[in-house]
Amino acid sequence: MARIALNQITRIFNATTAIADITFEVPDGQFWVMVGPSGCGKSTILRTIAGLEMATSGDLYIGDRRVNDLPARQRDVAMVFQNYALYPHMTVAENLAFGLRMRGADVRTIQSRIEAVAQSLGLTPLLDRKPGQLSGGQQQRVALGRAIARKPQAFLMDEPLSNLDAQLRDDTRAELKQLHQQLGITTIYVTHDQTEAMTLADQIVVLNQGRIQQIGPPQEIYQQPANQMVATFVGNPPMNLLNAVYLENRLHIGEQVLPCPAELQSVLGDSRRESAPHRLRERVANRPERSINLGIRPEQLQIAPDGIAPDGIAPDGEDGRLVAQVTLVEPLGRETLVRAKLPGVARPINLLAAPERAVQVGDRLSLRFDERALVGFDPE
Ligand code: ATP
Repeated sequence: MARIALNQITRIFNATTAIADITFEVPDGQFWVMVGPSGCGKSTILRTIAGLEMATSGDLYIGDRRVNDLPARQRDVAMVFQNYALYPHMTVAENLAFGLRMRGADVRTIQSRIEAVAQSLGLTPLLDRKPGQLSGGQQQRVALGRAIARKPQAFLMDEPLSNLDAQLRDDTRAELKQLHQQLGITTIYVTHDQTEAMTLADQIVVLNQGRIQQIGPPQEIYQQPANQMVATFVGNPPMNLLNAVYLENRLHIGEQVLPCPAELQSVLGDSRRESAPHRLRERVANRPERSINLGIRPEQLQIAPDGIAPDGIAPDGEDGRLVAQVTLVEPLGRETLVRAKLPGVARPINLLAAPERAVQVGDRLSLRFDERALVGFDPE
C-alpha cells in the first residue's frame, strides 16, 4: 500500500493542455474519486499515474518513490477499466493468475492467491469458465479480482462499473466498498455516477477543463461548493442558481424581495473581509447595489404547509418566502420533481415534493427554506 502524490502535474498534447497544475495527495489506504464533465482530464490523470501517459511537467510519487521516469510495469499499480480487458481464450482462473505469473510467482502462491480472491469475490464456481461464458457483472468481478490478486500498492479505476445495468451496478458498488474496507488499498476512482462518488469517496476531486475546482469530503463538496461549476455539477437535480441584486440589506430576486440572511450580508457588506471560502470571494466595497448569484439545493426548498399563495396578490417575500408557479411535475416514485418559475426570473427552479403532495402545473407555491442553505457566488 502507498500514498499517491501529484505535484503540479501538467500534460500537454500538441496544443491541448489536457491537465494543468494538478496537485493532490491521496494518503495511504484512502479511496478518492475524481469527477468532472467529459474531457476535463480525469482519464489523463489516471493514465499518468499508471505510467500510460508521461507528464509534461510536475512530480509524481507512489509511496516514497518519484515515479515519473519509471515504466508502467514497475509502478506496481493495478488499473481497472470499464471494458474489462480480460483474455478471452483464458479461463477465469488463468485470467486471475496472469499478473502473478508475469511477475514470476511460484505455483503454490498463485494457487492460494486465486483461491482467496475468488472466494472474496464469489468467483469460485466460475474459475473454469471463459470470459465469453460470463455475464457483464461476473466479467467485471474477474477484472477486479485480477487487479486484487497482484496485491498492488494502489488501484486506479476508470469507470469500472459503467457497463453494468442499474441493479448490478448497485450491488457491485457495495461489494467494492466492502472490499476496500477489507483490503485498505489506496484507490483513485473515476466516475460519472454521482451515487458512486458520494458513497465510495473519502475525498472527491472535482475537475473542469483540466484544472482542480475543489477537493473535499462528499458532504462538503455538496453543501459548500467552491464555485458555480461545482455547485451545478454535483447533485442531481443540480443546485438552483438565481441571479439576485443586493440593495440595503435585501435581496431582489426577479420581482420578489427577501431579507438578506446575516451570513451573506456580512460577506456582502463588509469591505474588510477579503475572501470568504466557499462564499463570495471578491473584495467588497461599500457599493450600494451589487449582483450576487444565490445557490440553493432543490431539497432545501419546502412547500409551505399553508401552501398556495392566494392568486393575484403580489408576493413581497418579506417573510423570507418565495412564491413560484409550477410549470412541470415529474413523479419519480420516492419523490416528485417540480419545476417552477419565479416571477421575473427567466430560469426555472427545481424542487422536490413528497409524492403524497398533490402539485399541479399552474399552482402557485409558497416556498420556505432555511436561509443558512443559501450559498452566494460572485457572478464575476
Ligand atoms: P471522459 O469523461 O469523456 O472520459 P476525461 O475527463 O477522462 O473525459 P481525458 O480523456 O483525460 O478526459 O481528456 C482530457 C483532454 O485531453 C481532452 O480535451 C482530450 O481531447 C485531450 N486528450 C486526451 N488524450 C489525448 C491525446 N492522446 N491526444 C490529444 N489530446 C488528448
